[in-house]
Amino acid sequence: MENTCLFCRILGGEIPATVVHRTETTLAFRDIDPKAPSHVLVIPVAHHANVIELAADPAAAADVLATAAKVAELEGLTDGFRVIFNTGEHGGQEVHHVHAHVVGGAPLGPMLAGR
Ligand code: 5GP
Ligand code: ZN
Repeated sequence: MENTCLFCRILGGEIPATVVHRTETTLAFRDIDPKAPSHVLVIPVAHHANVIELAADPAAAADVLATAAKVAELEGLTDGFRVIFNTGEHGGQEVHHVHAHVVGGAPLGPMLAGR
């Protein structure tokens, strides 16, 4: 755990979050500023800064994807959803503990704004 990392602090229970699902290796909780009717963040318990670091830990990567799929099921996203990993400056990543955004619950429109 890195005590300066916001999501490690959520994992440690230091900062509250609305938990949707938890496994030994992952946590899924609601985004504080939802961009869709359902907007859940899935993080590995192990601190990895971004999806590139996560890819170097295949077990954790698989667990994050499995939890994302479970969240879609729990949230009833039977008509579809998106899984997004914002990465780096151009990707607009703001929190540097890798997280999958699972978004859905309504048609999400074009994949990228303005395209
Ligand atoms: P990023 O831009 O890094 O891909 O996404 C970070 C996400 O974390 C944003 O969607 C933002 O709303 C969410 N977020 C930031 N701070 C908090 C917080 O304290 N609690 C929760 N639940 N979400 C947060
Ligand atoms: Zn962290």
